[in-house]
Formats: sequence, C-alpha cells, structure tokens
Amino acid sequence: MKISRLNTSTFKDFDDHEQVLECTDKDGGLHAYIAIHNRNLGPALGGCRIWQYASSDEAITDVLRLSRGMTYKSAMAELPLGGGKAVIIADPKTQKTKKMLLAMGDFVDSINGAYITAEDSGTSVEDLEIIGSRTEYVAGVNRKQLRDGSEVSGDPSPSTAYGVFVGLKASVKYRFGSEDLTGLKVAIQGVGNVGKRLARYLVDAGASVFVADIYTPAVDDVSKLANITPVNLKEIHTLDVDVFAPCALGGFITEETLPEIKAAVIAGAANNQLAHPGIGELLVQAGKLYAPDYVINAGGIIDIFYERNVYDHNKVTHHIEGIGDTLGEIFVMARETGQPTHVIADKIAEARFGKKSPCKNVA
Ligand code: NAD
Repeated sequence: MKISRLNTSTFKDFDDHEQVLECTDKDGGLHAYIAIHNRNLGPALGGCRIWQYASSDEAITDVLRLSRGMTYKSAMAELPLGGGKAVIIADPKTQKTKKMLLAMGDFVDSINGAYITAEDSGTSVEDLEIIGSRTEYVAGVNRKQLRDGSEVSGDPSPSTAYGVFVGLKASVKYRFGSEDLTGLKVAIQGVGNVGKRLARYLVDAGASVFVADIYTPAVDDVSKLANITPVNLKEIHTLDVDVFAPCALGGFITEETLPEIKAAVIAGAANNQLAHPGIGELLVQAGKLYAPDYVINAGGIIDIFYERNVYDHNKVTHHIEGIGDTLGEIFVMARETGQPTHVIADKIAEARFGKKSPCKNVA
C-alpha cells in the first residue's frame, strides 16, 4: 500500500484544507483519497463515496468539495465535528470488492482518527462493517434502538431523508405560505437511499411526486407507490412542479440547467448542488428559493453523532427538526440582506468553526 500526501493548493476547490492523502493498493485494487478540511470543532467526519470518476483530478475535486461541505454542515448543525471525506475511484455496482474495502480500512486507520469514515453514495452499512474490521474510525454501523423498542441499522440515510423532508416543508412554507403538502408537486432526481425515502414521506403527506434515476430498478421500486410517477432522466428538472429535489450527485445546477428549472423551490439531499458559488446569485435573480445543501441534508451527520455517543431517538428527531428552523432563519436573513441563501449559510458556519484559523497538524 502506498500513501502519499498531495499538494492540492492549485485546485480551484482547495480551501485551506489541512491535508489530502492518496492511497493506491494493487492487491486490494484500491485507488482512494481522504481529504481533511478543518478540525477546529472536532475530528473530521464524513462519508466514503465510491464512484467511477473519469480521472484522478475529478476525484480530488470531489473530495475537496465534499470534505469542505462537511465542515460547514457540522458547524451549521451545531455538532462538535470537523469536515473530512473519502472517495474511492471504482464503479460501486461492478468493481467494489471486499479486498478493496479492507484496504480502505487500513488507509483510514493509518491516520489515527484524524478522519472518521461513514456511508455515502456507493457504500452501504455492510461495506462500512468490512472497513470497520480494520479500523475503529468508522461510524454509521451500530444498530440503534428506536422509541418503540425496535432496532434499525446504523445507516444514516433514513435520518438524512427525514431532515430533507423537514427542510423541504420549511422551504415550501416560506415560499408558498403553508407547509401543507397536499397537492404539492415535487420532482426528485435520484431515488437511492435518500431519494426513495424522501419520496415516501412526500406521498404520505399528500404530495404528487415525479422521479428519475439512471438506475432503472431504483425507479421501478419506488414508483410502485401511489402518486409516484417515473419520468425521463433528461426531463426531471424541467417539469412544471413546485419543488425540484436533487438527490443524486452534486454539481447539477449550472448556467445551462438553471433556466430549465421551473420549480420555485430547490430543496434536496445532494451535496454540492451548485456547480460553483456564482450560481447562487443567478438563483436569486431567477427568483428561486434554494435550501443550502449542507443545511438541509444534515440529518445523517446528526444521526451519526448521536450514534457515536448516546443514541436517544427523541433527541435525534428533535435535533433534525431544527433544520426547518435554521432554514427559516437563513431565508429571512437572505431576504433582508439581498444575499443568496448559501452565502448567508456560509457566513454563519464560518463564524462557528473559525474559518480564519485552520488547524494544520494532522496526527
Ligand atoms: P445513493 O447512491 O443511494 O443514491 C443516489 C442515486 O442517484 C442512485 O440511485 C443513482 O443511480 C442516482 N443517480 C446518479 N446520477 C444520476 C443522474 N445524473 N440522474 C439521476 N439519478 C442519478 O446515494 P444517497 O445516499 O441516496 O445520497 C444521495 C445524495 O445525497 C448524494 O449526493 C449524497 O452525497 C447526499 N447525501 C447523502 C446522505 C446520506 O445519509 N446517505 C447524507 C448527506 C448527503
């Protein structure tokens, strides 16, 4: 196994990251990166994504953006955690192997807890258990007891979906004056672990839901429910709906896609939804209400935080429901200052984690 520290300061998405490591392991077929953005508030915690990146640079860009997002997300959710993330270059459906995950466990272990890993797109609880057989620095794997005594897995996705549902309602209330979702139309792009659960919450609340996913079985599965209509991949964001919920991968909202989005509200789970920060200003000009991604999708990290301490379902639910209030405050501040919602969120988060004084020493 070869682990090397990279100088990523020339990358556009470099943001004073503490450290970025690359690992290659021939035996395990592993090519992975870990980025630690900032640990001023605590250990860097963030998921491990497996994706078929087209190049190393694409993977580094993603891990830089994702790890930064985790610092902001935990700060906004008032958690004593820093920001980190890992990515593995592989097709999660065809190239993921046990050997690869074991090697990833060794990679995570090699930095002695400076980074704690968890689930992300492409990794499951079972995968994290394999990684966890090589390192203690794994979250999202412990079974948790709910209020009714039943047990659920460590997967944070249900909590993320609940948080997105709460945040979507808060966004709808702010924009349309009522959080009654009866008859509301929502288009969900990506119905994986989070998107499919969000779809269920929405139809249970009386909304009509439209879905699209590049993975046809995921669409077939979720559209068995009443009030869920599958649509073409290319059309999902163009539908004449009230809310567009990006729940696939990031970077979808660009200069090209934005004019095609008819929904007045954009509220979904995907990390890094805006292709670049300038898109936030264009959203304001277009009259769209954007729920900043790392604010609305913090349910999973909140869940993981409690899982690593004392899991109390009531407390977790209460903490996640705070996402609605936080968004409400951001929307009001954005209106009062004329600034994009993501700029307001960034300012609040930066004040909390102390952006000006990054911690430079990695264990
Ligand atoms: P997932 O891999 O289970 O689901 C993502 C789905 O999107 C997959 O079904 C995939 O086929 C589909 N997809 C990919 N590209 C697409 C495209 N161009 N168009 C339509 N569908 C596409 O991942 P997830 O856990 O549901 O996470 C979804 C998003 O939410 C990711 O951006 C993730 O980083 C973010 N997120 C997830 C969590 C969590 O707890 N799982 C927490 C915070 C943020």
